[in-house]
This record gives sequence, structure tokens and C-alpha cells, in this order.
Amino acid sequence: MRTSTRRLLVIGLDGATFDLIQPWIAAGDLPNLQRLMAEGSWGPLESVVHPFTAQAWTSMVTGVQQGKHRVFDFWERDFDTYGFRLINASHRALPALWNLLSQAGKNVIVVNVPQTYPPEPVQGVMVSGRDTPGLDTAYTYPPELKAELDHASSSPYVIVPNDWLWTQRGRPDLARAELLREADVRFDATLHLMDTRPWDLVFFVVSATDGAAHFFWKYHDPSHPLYDPAEAACYGDTLREVYRRCDQRIGELLQRLQGQQDVNVLVVSDHGQGPLGPQAVHLNTWLAGQNLLQFRNRHNNQATLGERVAIVASHAAQRGKRWLYRQVGFQTLTKLRAWWPDSLRTRLGAETFFPGVDWYHTRAFSEELRGNIWINLAGRDPHGIVQPGVEYEALRDQIVATLPELTDPATGARPIRRVWRREELYHGPFLERFPDLVVEAEYPDVFKPHGAYTGASAARQLTPAELGQIIITGCHRSNGIFIAWGPDAKPGGQVTGAALIDIAPTVLHLLGQPVPVEMDGHVLTAALAGSAAGPVAAVTLAELGFDGAGAEHSFSDAEEEYVRERLAGLGYLG
Ligand SMILES: [Zn+2]
Repeated sequence: MRTSTRRLLVIGLDGATFDLIQPWIAAGDLPNLQRLMAEGSWGPLESVVHPFTAQAWTSMVTGVQQGKHRVFDFWERDFDTYGFRLINASHRALPALWNLLSQAGKNVIVVNVPQTYPPEPVQGVMVSGRDTPGLDTAYTYPPELKAELDHASSSPYVIVPNDWLWTQRGRPDLARAELLREADVRFDATLHLMDTRPWDLVFFVVSATDGAAHFFWKYHDPSHPLYDPAEAACYGDTLREVYRRCDQRIGELLQRLQGQQDVNVLVVSDHGQGPLGPQAVHLNTWLAGQNLLQFRNRHNNQATLGERVAIVASHAAQRGKRWLYRQVGFQTLTKLRAWWPDSLRTRLGAETFFPGVDWYHTRAFSEELRGNIWINLAGRDPHGIVQPGVEYEALRDQIVATLPELTDPATGARPIRRVWRREELYHGPFLERFPDLVVEAEYPDVFKPHGAYTGASAARQLTPAELGQIIITGCHRSNGIFIAWGPDAKPGGQVTGAALIDIAPTVLHLLGQPVPVEMDGHVLTAALAGSAAGPVAAVTLAELGFDGAGAEHSFSDAEEEYVRERLAGLGYLG
């Protein structure tokens, strides 16, 4: 086995893309990223399907695809209802890098990796990421680290920047300030921990690169349909400024490492970013057009009285929640919510994700924002009407064959790239929890809830007014970034075909650790030099003492409400 006394610094820039980095390097804006790329190896890092933050980072830090680690999104289906429940790091079924390295006696510093709440006991320290319910929770390991973090920076510690909140309130100036603050606080906290703790691995993630692309794309890109020159004069430089700030702070990190010949550096992102255009696909509208889904109306509604009450309450709740939130504040709203009966709450969940679906006459349905299709399966779903086996497969075959033919009558475009049967993308014990079909487009944000739309075509162009209603103007793409630099990186190397799931094995290998055979990814030896480019040692998780998952942490009502509110702010939930 290759032994190594090297250390490794992993810089995660959420949503970072070479589509932005390369032109800005050419303009002289990002000298430190330029140096890392010129002196090391780099290439695009292919995300997972779908390229969403929770499943992407979890795949990166476990080295396996979603069917093995379970985390398919911020939430998962509750098959007792048509609702979903939020999940967190305790639902991750396989060990992450920090678990494996702690077990091997290595010291780790983990900061702000998404989907890491609650924080886990590690050899070293851990600060949870964006799924953390709030600053008043125990988001650090050890717990007393929390107080220290507030003094590591000139600004109090921040987990999730309020970029979405200020964007929602029409204050891009404050959203911009929040993004820059988040980047600074994150680098300050990481530098502080590196200075005060022994470490073999530092793994930290900056959120600002993702938020800036989501909320500031329209100001930066003259070809965006909502581009306005007057607004661009004020905020057009924000996205670049956030990248520039990260680059400056990376320069500070590199300076800190000067003279330390034993440190390798990786820079990674979980997905790329690009413009959110006017193309929309309404999957439930398409399913209805195929007679596979029926929307409720006065004539066919077989809903029970309880369900009708839930539906009415849900619509009122959606409208009233934001008003209430402003009027009575988060704490009171949470208390009020606790009075709702359980049955009402689960139905509210279903109505949030699948508004207006008549479950008794529906064979397939979609939670439209996420590009997934579920078969209304007998024996699994509460009102399932499709029989497992031949009928289920025939229905999936039909959708796989016909949905990609969907054409936008306005442009002639075919926005659907491919419809995957879930087992074509994923394998492992959690496959059964995943959607029956996964629909891939150029980017997943092409999928829109039908809302008030009553037209016949499931593919259409949003009007500028409709586009302006969506809080984000940039959205995820499947190409992330990978840069390797340091004594074990191949100088001037180009890496092709790198995938998210290759990061965990590459990290272990760089730290002289064997790679569990359960990992689906491979060590990116093409990016490495010397003995690091040599053979990879293998081991099984059982040999390392890992067998099965620990206890799951359920969010309390207050925690759940907080996380939901923030996801809603990003446009993920109604
Ligand atoms: Zn992300």
C-alpha cells in the first residue's frame, strides 16, 4: 500500500464553472485559480443526475451514486401519503470521507459541506452545511466550537447567506453584501481552524459562488431575457466580484501553505451554472395530455371530506404562510403549525408537491420542479391504480418512448434529452425510494409547475412577466470543476471524464489510504504524478469496521419549518 504523510486541502466552490472562470482568468481577474490550473491538472467534473446540491455533495463525499447512499434530494417520498419528508446527513447510508479518515486516525476539518447536519463526531472538527436548521442549533462538533467561530471573523458566523431573502424583498444590494460576507466568513473560519488544529484533511465549501449565479445571472449576462442595462450597471459585476473575492482568499490560503511541501490542494464544485431561460416543460400537463393524469374538478372529485378540507387549507396556507411569517414571526408560526393535526399536515405536503392531482384517476404524476415521474403504483402509493409487473413496465416504456418527442410549438425545440428508468442510473438498496422515471433536460430547472397555466402544450416559452416571477435567473448545469495542485498533481495536466464520485477515492488515495471497493468512483490518476499515479490500494468497508447506518435524526417541527422556508426561498418548494 502507498503510504503518505501528505495533507490535503479541498476547496469546494458550490456551483463553480469553468464557463465563468476561463474568461475571467483571461481578463486577469482570477490569478490564483489561474496559477493552480497552470501548475496543476484540471478539467470539468461531471455531476450526477440530477445535478442538485444535496445529492451531488453526498455523492462526492461518499464516492458512490445515490442508490447506495440514499440522499436523492433535500427530501424523500413518504409512501404513506403523496407527501415528502425532509432528510439530513443522518439518513446517509454510507460513510463519508471524514468518517473513513477519522477511523484511520487522520485529523479532519470539515466546514459547510451541504447535507452534513447534524454534525458527526470526527477526529477533528466539523461544522454543518446548508441543511442546518438554524444558528440556534448544535451545528458544530464539538458543540463548544460554535462560540469560537463567531470570533473567527469580523462578522458573526453564517451558515446560509440571506441572498434569497434579500432578492425576494427586491434588495439586490443587500443580497450582494450577504454573498461577499458569506465567502469571507467561510474563509476566515477555515483559516482559523487550520491555524489552531492539527489537520490531514481540510474540506470546506463556499456557498456564495452558487447563490451569486442563481440570483445575479440576469445582471451579468446581456443575452438573458431579463437583462436590463440600468440594473446591470449597478449589479452586473456581482457574480464576478464573488469569484474574485474567493480567488483572493484562495491566494491567502496558498500563502499560508507556502513552505509546506506536503500539502496537495483540490478545488471542486458539485455542478456548474448557466442562465435560466424561458423554456418551460410542465410534466403534469404532458401526462394529462396523454390521459395518464387527471386534474381534480367538480365532476370527478372523489376526495373525502378530510381531503377536501386539506386541499382548501393547503391553498390558504400557501398564500397565508408568507403573510403570517411577516406578521407573527417564525417562532409563533411554528407553534401555530404544531396545532395542526398530523393527517392534515401530511396532506398539505402532498398538495404542495402535486397540486390538483386526482389520485383516483391518475396513472403517473410528477413533482414538476424536479423532473421526476412517479407511477401511481398499487401496493405502494395510497391510491395506486397501476399494477406492479407487466402494467408498470409497459407504462414506463410508453413514457420513455414518447416524452422525448415533446416539441415546443413556438420554437420547434425538443427540450427533453432522455427519460431514464431509475435502475438505468442508480443501483443499491435505496433504489426503491427513488422516482420511477428520471427526466433529463439541458438543465433540470426547465421543469416548471403548471400553476395557473391552462394551455394545451406541455412545452412552451415563458413570457418575460412569468420569467420575472421566478426568483432565480441562473440555474444548475451538469459540468462542475476539478483542479488538482501540489506535489502529487501532474503539472499542466488536462483531465477528461472526471466525475463527482471520483473525488472521494482520489482524496483517500492522496492521503495514502486504501479505497473501499464499494465506491463507484475511481482515483483520478490522470491528474496525479509520481507514486500517487501508481496503483490504488483496495479494502472493503467491512474490513474498515463499517457495517450499516447509525440512528436517523428526525427534524423537529421548528427545524423542519426553518429548512422548508429556506428551500422555498430558493424556489424549491411552493
Ligand atoms: Zn450546489
